[in-house]
Amino acid sequence: MPEILSISACLLVFLLGLIIGSFLNVVIHRGPAIWGLVKTAAPDKPYSLAHPRSHCPACQQQIKVIHLIPIVGFILLRGRCSACGQHIPWRYPVVEVLGGASALVPYFIYGPSLTALAIFCFFCLVISLAFIDQQTSFLPDALTLPLIITGMGANAVPLFVPLQDALIAAAAGFISFWLIGEVFYRLRGYDGLGLGDAKMLAGLGAWLGWIALPFIVLLASLTGLIFIALSKLRGQDVGLETGLPFGPSLAIAAATLMILQATGLDFWNI
Ligand SMILES: [Zn+2]
Repeated sequence: MPEILSISACLLVFLLGLIIGSFLNVVIHRGPAIWGLVKTAAPDKPYSLAHPRSHCPACQQQIKVIHLIPIVGFILLRGRCSACGQHIPWRYPVVEVLGGASALVPYFIYGPSLTALAIFCFFCLVISLAFIDQQTSFLPDALTLPLIITGMGANAVPLFVPLQDALIAAAAGFISFWLIGEVFYRLRGYDGLGLGDAKMLAGLGAWLGWIALPFIVLLASLTGLIFIALSKLRGQDVGLETGLPFGPSLAIAAATLMILQATGLDFWNI
């Protein structure tokens, strides 16, 4: 734990995290179309993270600058588009707050340091992956490959585990999920676990090391079961064949282990 951090510094870090969280919302909303995983409403028009300017997907009304302020905009608009009244998904404030917390928690534990910055990057990647998978059932290479590379980079220092542990974990994570996916496909005739899941587990392993892999998978499976139970409680017909995205569960499991590691409760490394 670093020496006492001033409240104003913590507030500033949280605000910066909120702003990055707001950017993550753009990545989550536009990324799948930019990477060709889903179609845009107007495929002939230029489409990037910066263009067109932020607008309501229902009525195309441009969003006023004041309404782009994280959290404040959502509260001022009371969760609805000012022009057409369409509900703004809860994802927007949730991802913004997650961005703020992702910056604040490692800063609080490590202070202004490379480790805190690295953990913030890790959280940003897993948050984006979780929400994109939940919405599109895709885990894009444009995010899983950077997750692997940044994990290797962080552990080349090394920040969390020795580099060779990270390399073994990336390979073992990919091969294990790829094998399970292949066996499942041959037995059942449809995909149960995609290559995206294998690449994401490789990335999580690159950050947390091979000893953490079984715990990530176990915790993610339990989280997935909770998601299925919650969906059933809401009256949704969820089963294996409905293809519940596994990315959000993997993200929650890995983020939990990352926080445990940062707070010194990394029981798997003892
Ligand atoms: Zn609208």
